[in-house]
Amino acid sequence: MNYNNKNKLKDELNLLRASGYSIGFVPTMGALHQGHISLMELALQSCDQVVVSIYVNPTQFDNSEDLAKYPNQLDQDLSLIKASFSDDQIIVYTPLTQDIYGDEPQSKHYDFGDLGLQMEGAQRPGHFDGVGTILEYFFELIQPDMAFFGEKDFQQLLIVRELVRQLELSVKIVGCPIARDSVGLALSSRNARLSEQGKITATAINKSLHVMKEGFLTATIDELLATAREFLDHTTGIETEYVSIVDEQTLRPVSSKAPGLPIRAFVVAHIEGVRLIDNMKLN
Ligand code: AMP
Repeated sequence: MNYNNKNKLKDELNLLRASGYSIGFVPTMGALHQGHISLMELALQSCDQVVVSIYVNPTQFDNSEDLAKYPNQLDQDLSLIKASFSDDQIIVYTPLTQDIYGDEPQSKHYDFGDLGLQMEGAQRPGHFDGVGTILEYFFELIQPDMAFFGEKDFQQLLIVRELVRQLELSVKIVGCPIARDSVGLALSSRNARLSEQGKITATAINKSLHVMKEGFLTATIDELLATAREFLDHTTGIETEYVSIVDEQTLRPVSSKAPGLPIRAFVVAHIEGVRLIDNMKLN
């Protein structure tokens, strides 16, 4: 089933809830791939009915060119869902911008504390305000029991948990593992914009994360950062935006490896004008 009318969606969900169905929610921006499908599969393991939203949210783009180039392929997305699940398992919601924002797409403002100031928060001003705004709308409309987010956007996952805490919502937020292709490249809608050579080049991002993971026990944090940067700098065709090693609970950069501290590395790099992100737990 595919809805773009929010009232019809609401009515359908009310009927399902009245029959005792639990509702899972997977928000996406479309150009679906197996990473998105893996989230839907996980959602179906825990919930009776899953709602998938497909909407390229304008307010979370800090760069209008990036927004204009974002892939848009609704028919293909619906076919992929149809080929992957039976008809009654997934409800697709393709909202209308007017319903969400009225005439002028604008973000609300949130204070996510330090979580919103690091990495993507620092590099993409207003990004998490846009994410918060669209998710607040979706959570209010859909009232899911559980919502599923990829660790691919690890900072977003923590921001969503913080949003839910601040709004005192009862939805359970579930983090899902990063789906990768056979050579380790994290699946992303943006990969569709890469040439075959670009995809090969992009595997250096994942390799640089492995370099840090493999060196974790023997090298200092500064050495790990330097080695990953050097590895990326020596790969033709990559422009590194940042490499960070952070406490995975606060996302604050770490300078040493305190015992028991969960540490995660993040890389953002540009290949053929496409901005790609990836991360990996180091310990
Ligand atoms: P997007 O369509 O890029 O906004 O992503 C929608 C959801 O899918 C987000 O929760 C992402 O973190 C998740 N996602 C995107 N790529 C992957 C991936 N390779 N593995 C797992 N989850 C992913």
